[in-house]
Amino acid sequence: MNVFEELNGRGHEQVVFCSDPKAGLNAIIAIHNTSLGPALGGARMWTYANTEEALRDVLRLSRGMTYKAAIAGLNLGGGKAVIIGDPNKEKTEELFRTYGRFVEGLGGRYITAEDVGTTVREMEWVRMETKYVTGISRALGGSGDPSPVTALGVFVGMKACCKEVFGNDSLAGKTVIVQGAGNVASYLCSHLAGERSKIVVTDIFEAKARKLAKSVKATYVKPERIYSVRGDVFAPCALGGILNDETIPQLKVRIVAGGANNQLLDEKKHMGMLMERGILYAPDYAINAGGLMNVANELEGYQEERALKQAEGIYDILHAIFALAKKENIPTSVAANKLAEARIESVARIKQIYAGKSEFAGRLGERSRGGR
Ligand code: NAD
Repeated sequence: MNVFEELNGRGHEQVVFCSDPKAGLNAIIAIHNTSLGPALGGARMWTYANTEEALRDVLRLSRGMTYKAAIAGLNLGGGKAVIIGDPNKEKTEELFRTYGRFVEGLGGRYITAEDVGTTVREMEWVRMETKYVTGISRALGGSGDPSPVTALGVFVGMKACCKEVFGNDSLAGKTVIVQGAGNVASYLCSHLAGERSKIVVTDIFEAKARKLAKSVKATYVKPERIYSVRGDVFAPCALGGILNDETIPQLKVRIVAGGANNQLLDEKKHMGMLMERGILYAPDYAINAGGLMNVANELEGYQEERALKQAEGIYDILHAIFALAKKENIPTSVAANKLAEARIESVARIKQIYAGKSEFAGRLGERSRGGR
């Protein structure tokens, strides 16, 4: 892999390799873009097969965070970290405090958080070494579990989809098919039950799905049957890559709107397949941005009410994406990318203008001082 070609190609600003053999730390921090603010993104701990695989993952994920923060209207850039190791065997205080010192060394250009393979407990070790960490527990002044805020964003985003497809945003009487019965899905189902939607739910853990189904009066189906249930909305709230060659032809819905990350296995191809079938797709990183809004709030002193209010704004964000997609006759995924890029470019331009002005003002100051 030609590292610089890879970085230039995706537009990354900085990649930091962190190594401390005594602490057992091998990590990579990628800062994709800081035009809008410091790069925020979780630290993923995973048993990568080799360094190249880890590097590719961190480059891909950090870029995704830039787009998510931008579309969400946050003053944040995109970054991510990967810690190479087995999250079930290799987590120690020493390792995470060492990682925290590397984060501190970046002076606030990167703010870390929990992610796959890391939890609030490890972020509390990181916090012993740096203030540039979010997603810590409520007890320590953090934002705690982001799922309720993510789920609210998905719920209002789903309403925006209904408005687009059916002409009104009510979910009453609509059949919503939910894949996964985890944190986001559970809070989402409570909102849907409150709106008197008909809910169908599944999970690979049948007991978990049946428990959720009972609490919200939903129907349980087996995981492999979830794609072919006839309804209005399919809400992926489990895994990535589940919109693919096999699943898309089975769908009998008008809308796909859910909380899972990276839903399209191949962004271009599978977005095209959804469009051919006349299914409206809510771009995942826009509709599930509530979780990022939640941790971003921590930076200003966490207030749940403010985070929930921000997540309600996802309704308008999706509306803007659909309007652009229609105007330019482009896929909704492309429209979301365009809106995110336009915001980054406009803010970068403003910053340049002001930097230029202050430089100019500085030169004027020099001249006037010299003249006296
Ligand atoms: P979770 O682990 O609580 O729930 C996921 C559930 O999906 C689990 O119950 C799991 O058993 C189930 N599952 C896994 N594979 C499945 C399959 N093939 N079929 C059916 N069910 C399956 O996770 P979560 O926090 O609810 O997050 C769900 C998704 O949303 C993830 O993709 C996550 O990355 C994304 N997301 C979550 C948040 C958040 O705030 N938690 C924010 C943004 C995005």
